[in-house]
Order: sequence, then structure tokens, then C-alpha cells
Amino acid sequence: MSLANLLDRAANGGRLTFEEGVLLYTQASLHDLGAAAHQRRMSLYPTTDVTYVIDTTINYTNVCNVHCSFCAFFRPEKHGEGYTMSHDEVLGRVKWAADQGATQIMIQGGVNPELRIEWFERLFERVRSEFPNVDLHSLSVSEINGLAKVEGRSPREVLERLRGAGLKSLPGAGAEILVERVRKRISARKIVPDEWLGIMRDAQLLGMPTTATMMFGSIETLEERIEHLEVMRALQDETGGFTAFIPWYYVPFNTPLRGKESTGLDYLRVLAISRLYLDNFPHLQASWLTPGLKMGQLALFYGCDDMGGTILEERVVTLAGSTNVATRKQLEELVIGAGFRPVVRDTYWNLRPEMALAGA
Ligand code: SF4
Repeated sequence: MSLANLLDRAANGGRLTFEEGVLLYTQASLHDLGAAAHQRRMSLYPTTDVTYVIDTTINYTNVCNVHCSFCAFFRPEKHGEGYTMSHDEVLGRVKWAADQGATQIMIQGGVNPELRIEWFERLFERVRSEFPNVDLHSLSVSEINGLAKVEGRSPREVLERLRGAGLKSLPGAGAEILVERVRKRISARKIVPDEWLGIMRDAQLLGMPTTATMMFGSIETLEERIEHLEVMRALQDETGGFTAFIPWYYVPFNTPLRGKESTGLDYLRVLAISRLYLDNFPHLQASWLTPGLKMGQLALFYGCDDMGGTILEERVVTLAGSTNVATRKQLEELVIGAGFRPVVRDTYWNLRPEMALAGA
């Protein structure tokens, strides 16, 4: 089948095989990939609405026993620069975000073996009772797995207890590239790809929606990026539990792994192939935090229908050299400047158009 026929099939929602995905990703022009991805996005959502969520990320601890080589954020146990916030500190930041209209809170950190499950239960219960209008979309699969080890329980039991304390959904962090060769090279102490997928499956089967991410641009091959899309698509076929896919690229500064930063063109190609390959994912999110706001704006023509979160506060990629920040006003102006209408949503994609600064 020719590239043009493949693009046409994918743009109309037809499923690509792994080989077809690799072929399109490596051979089609950026323009053709983008046009097909945008066609697919507009047929899924025939509207100019572009959603975003008002959220913040609170990096409650930088102590981590996983030691990923691409990470500039973590400090090993007992390191002098390690920190763990008190519950009051975390609650203070939740209040600050809630006062600015945040409806979603991402509490994420390193995998700190000093913290027991009761620490998280008490924190989440306080957030739930003091800020009933915010949703806890928090903890990565790595943190859930770390807690399971500390407690000697299964990840599913940990998820059940945290859900009981107020955890509503899981962000897709910590996937990087779900290919064992890549994991061994960049995060050898992290759980293997099947375990990552297993914890996500557990969360989704417990009724917790999750997102999925891909951190590309470290040491993986182009084919391994499509392998990552393939395993995500297979789990989504099984559970339907992913709300959105969020590709973002590795920021190499201040990290042990080093390397080169991906280009804007790499970013747009990944977005476009993600929209075309992941035919069963509802939403594709522009992750402007690493490529920058203007790339986030361009992303709206490469398959994205969502601008992600306002991310009022974040440290992990900031420490790796990302300097992108945005006010809600700037984010909305970018969306409007691209010819779309900004619409606020919550974690579950319930639309809140009355909350947009630009008005309904
Ligand atoms: S990426 Fe996460 S799990 Fe890996 S070292 Fe950094 S904080 Fe720890």
C-alpha cells in the first residue's frame, strides 16, 4: 500500500499495523503526517474547542531510590539536598492552587522508601475534606510500586487503599519508552514494562481513569517509539481506561544521561503519528512544558485537541532545564491565536466553558 493510501486510511480512523506505523513515521513527510493527524482530530471533534485543565503539580519529595539516569530532579536517600514536604506544606500549595481555580492536583515525587502508606492516606484525606472541589490526579506507577514494596502488599491493594482515601486517578508518568532494552539503559531499577502496564490495568479496572505518556528522545530508536504506542494501544483495547496520550521529550540538561534535546520537528512528528496510531485514545495532549508554548500552539494542527494543564508549579523538568511557564491568559491567547476556542475541563473531561477567561 502506498504512503498516500496509508495516510488516508489512518486519517479516517483505520488501524495501522506496527510495520505500517513504522513506515509512516519514518517515511511520510511532516506536512502529510500533520495533515492526516489534523483530519483525524477534526473528525473525532468537529469543533474548534480546545480544552485545558487548571492544575498544579506538587513535587512533595525529591528523595528517590530508583535513580533514573535521565532525571535531574531526584536525590538519593540521605543526600543533603533531599527534601520531603510536611502535610501542611503540601496543603498550603493545594490551597494556593485552588484559590486560582485549580480543579486538578498532581502530587508527585520520587520513590521515597521512608514514606509509609498511612502518610499518603492522611494527606489525601485532608485534601479531600479541606478542598472538595479539587480532584487528586496523583502518584506515578513507580510510586505505587514503591509503596507496594515498602508495605509488602500488591500494587492493587495499595491502589484500593489510596482510592479509599481520595485518590481519583493516576497520571501516566514514568512510562518513558515501554521497551525493556530502553528501560535497562536509562532506568534499570524501575519496574519492567509489563509491570507498568499491570499497575495501570489494575487502576483502570478499579475505575480510576489514567493518562498515558511517552518520554522520547533519550536513547530509543524510532521503531521503539512505535513499540511503545503499540503496547499502549493494546492495553486501551482491553480496558478503555486511558483518557489521553501525552508525548513529551527528554530534556538532557543537568542529567547524568546527557545527550541532545529533540527538535520541534521531532515533537510534531511524534504527535502526528500518535494521533494516527492510537486509534482508540480519545484525547491527544500538547505537552508544551518541554517544547515551549509556541510549539504547543502548533501542536493543535498535528492531532492535539487538548492543551493539558496550566501547571502552576512544577520542578521535575524545570530542574532538567525546561524554562517554560504560562499563565492561563497566555495559554488561552495561544489557543485563540491559532483559531480555536479555549474551554476549561476537569480531570474527566467534563467541560466547564464558563470557567474560561475568554468566556463561553
Ligand atoms: S524519574 Fe521519577 S523514579 Fe526516576 S529517578 Fe526521577 S523521581 Fe525517581
